[in-house]
Amino acid sequence: MADHLIHLPRDVMQLIRALRGAGYSAHVVGGCVRDSLLGRTPGDWDLCTNARPEQMRRIFAGHQLILTGEKHGTVAVVLHGAPYEITTYRLDGDYTDHRRPDGVQFVEDLAQDLARRDFTINAMAYAPGTGLVDLYGGRADLAAGVVRCVGDPTARFAEDALRILRAVRFASQLSFTLELSTAAAALAQRDSVALVSAERIYTELDKLLAGPAAGPVLAQYGELLGGVLPEVLPCMNCTQPGPWHYYDVWRHTAATVGALDLRGQDARGTRTLRWAAFLHDLAKPLCRTVGPDGAAHFHGHNQRGARQARQILQRLRAPAYLIDGAASLIAVHDAPLPADDPAILRCLGRYGPVFLQRLCLLKYADLDAHAPNPRVAQRRADVQVFQRRMQTLAKTGCYSLAQLELRGVDIMNAGVRPGPQVGELLNKMLNAVMDGRLPNDNEALLAAVRREISK
Ligand code: ATP
Ligand code: MG
Repeated sequence: MADHLIHLPRDVMQLIRALRGAGYSAHVVGGCVRDSLLGRTPGDWDLCTNARPEQMRRIFAGHQLILTGEKHGTVAVVLHGAPYEITTYRLDGDYTDHRRPDGVQFVEDLAQDLARRDFTINAMAYAPGTGLVDLYGGRADLAAGVVRCVGDPTARFAEDALRILRAVRFASQLSFTLELSTAAAALAQRDSVALVSAERIYTELDKLLAGPAAGPVLAQYGELLGGVLPEVLPCMNCTQPGPWHYYDVWRHTAATVGALDLRGQDARGTRTLRWAAFLHDLAKPLCRTVGPDGAAHFHGHNQRGARQARQILQRLRAPAYLIDGAASLIAVHDAPLPADDPAILRCLGRYGPVFLQRLCLLKYADLDAHAPNPRVAQRRADVQVFQRRMQTLAKTGCYSLAQLELRGVDIMNAGVRPGPQVGELLNKMLNAVMDGRLPNDNEALLAAVRREISK
């Protein structure tokens, strides 16, 4: 992790030069420094400076500017179509509501600006010539894989409770652990995260679920989510004895998220599956009974879980496609899959191939988070058989009226008056095709319709 690993893009260099040329200091700061030192490509480059917004406006007068953040010290300069945020060194004012500073105060000193930042790994700055400015051991924490608050964690989480979720989110994205006093303070104050706006909570949870270490991080730090998702707490230590499981509900949930194989899924499918895996069993503690054989049963947890997932996602103001997509997957996640062609075709007609593909991926992840025994392996093989046949029939089969080689107008031309009978006949023909009693062929279907009418 040498300084020379920080390669500033040409546009960023230009911004720094312009600020320095006008007599100000300027650095890149935060996430882009962290990501560069990790050898990753930064998502965006944020700059900080002792120039005030009005001075930045003068320096960059010839450029397109975005001034929506000016009150907080941020001016975005658009270069080659991309906005670069430049923020005046500042202190955050008091946080009376645990979620946003009452005001900001501009300062001259980079060190003061770094002190207000959340974690040591996010509190480094860099500028050519100056090199890395690392006042809190951020580089050592990056090397050790540790998320540690800048300063006293209790005070920092009391200022802004969102940082508790951010800590877990960075652990998931970077495969890091939380430094012990940071983790302890986060746990002690987890309930205050409920004061943060739903949108910001959703964004952090969504990033957490998308991280490469989401599974292990959920297993280790799940309790920290209890302030915003109290539903997760009863899952911890909710045991599921019996031949199928070897994890409690929470560890099973975390393992399911970690086991998802999302290859081939688009952005919506990916997000929907991650949330569905995360929420799929949260109703189990509400449905738990123990049979005479000592095995735990969770009757009705599919449907109840779907309702609960819908409530949670609505509470978090998640997008509608995610609420519907995740809830409908959860509603059937544990239902048996059909094995014969007529039933698979009806399933395709009811749910569509996109949904069924997602369901298979959820089932694989769910099963991979079960005990590794032959019965579980058999269930996995059954899903595979279903998936292959479903994919074939989705391409070649007929499972909807739109695919049927017969139109309502054909039936009317054969002498049936417009009305409900047309639809009934179409459905009858579709059922016959799905059952394999008739080919999906216009002539054969018309002949069958004529036989029906003359009955
Ligand atoms: P990402 O890759 O997600 O953008 P990032 O580190 O850039 O990661 P941002 O949310 O864009 O995260 O914030 C930019 C920087 O601002 C952070 O690196 C951190 O220094 C500071 N920061 C952001 N949010 C907070 C917060 N809630 N409390 C303190 N500092 C924060
Ligand atoms: Mg950022």
